Amino acid sequence: MIGGPIAFPRFFRRPRRPRFGVAFLFAFICIAMLSVSCSRTKVRKYSRTELMFGTVCRISLVDTSGELDGDAALEETFSRLADIEKRISRTQAGSEISSVNGQAGTAPVAVSEETYELVKTALQYARLTDGAFNPAIGPLVSLWGINTETAKVPSDEEISRVLPLLDWREVVLDDVERSIFLPRQGMSLDLGGIGKGYAADVAKATLRRFGASSALVNLGGNILVIGTKPDGEAWRIGLQDPDSSRGEFFLSVSLTDGTVVTSGPYERYFVQDGVRYHHILDASTGYPAVTHIASVTIVGADSTGADALSTAAFVLGVEPSLALLRTLPGVEAVFLMDDGTIRMSEGLADDASRWRLATDRYSVKLGD
Ligand code: AMP
Ligand code: MG
Repeated sequence: MIGGPIAFPRFFRRPRRPRFGVAFLFAFICIAMLSVSCSRTKVRKYSRTELMFGTVCRISLVDTSGELDGDAALEETFSRLADIEKRISRTQAGSEISSVNGQAGTAPVAVSEETYELVKTALQYARLTDGAFNPAIGPLVSLWGINTETAKVPSDEEISRVLPLLDWREVVLDDVERSIFLPRQGMSLDLGGIGKGYAADVAKATLRRFGASSALVNLGGNILVIGTKPDGEAWRIGLQDPDSSRGEFFLSVSLTDGTVVTSGPYERYFVQDGVRYHHILDASTGYPAVTHIASVTIVGADSTGADALSTAAFVLGVEPSLALLRTLPGVEAVFLMDDGTIRMSEGLADDASRWRLATDRYSVKLGD
């Protein structure tokens, strides 16, 4: 018997066959069920457009989980945006900011936590940019009347009368009362340079609360994306060519979970006696900021900050802006200059996979 074939009793061998068969069948059923359930999970797209913040606001989201209530998410997000606009508008009577402005030189005004925090953040950016971003610019914006029917170049006397009213350092915040006080009569806050960025951040938080993992928020060119596109690729955001019609880009930036905010004189301006006067004002001169920048785009994670910085960068000019951006990790910039060259902050310049030139009308100038 030794060395010969071992004869197992039949009942040892027999059961193995059916067990293997059952496992095989089980695996087959699982795969079949999985593929049926996958084919049932549709990609569902939702989008909505509204006129808000004086511009076209569009939010698009994509659901691949089958669990997102996209309509409810958009409804809630737009209602949050409407709420923000109602609180921070400088021109809507009854907004918290117009109450603060109306009480300038008289009394502090208690505001909601959101408005208070936004004004606090705006003042931090004023400090960071040495007043290039100035949320107390209201009197100058009113004087120029940019974006109104009565836009006109003010007289030198008018400008010198208004300049002392633009000192953002004089704004008094009271954390306990949550109040804002503008100590001089005639002072006024204008959050036009930061409000859309803030609104985009609130939209992101709201959409995320609903479980959105792929969305594009476009508040008049102030762009924020959640996650990637549904195919897993980064979003590609085109930067408007100021010399071409809307929707024509000079460069695109790839973006996952981030924001792209552009400021430029081409967005709002009026022409008087053949001269173009734009809407980004320099509180140190009282005139529209004079730079050689045709547009500046900030790329980062936080839209509130990117918005304030894009306005500030335009006033500061390229070199001071690049110096400032070196101190802010994760915040990058693209400058399109009047001479057709494109300048970038180091983080973008060093990583060509993050951007693509969209036209040969302009050329990228890397380095100093
Ligand atoms: P943006 O398009 O974000 O650059 O913001 C421009 C808007 O911000 C203008 O229409 C004004 O309402 C306001 N604004 C103008 N100049 C400044 C400034 N130097 N700092 C802060 N806000 C400004
Ligand atoms: Mg801005």
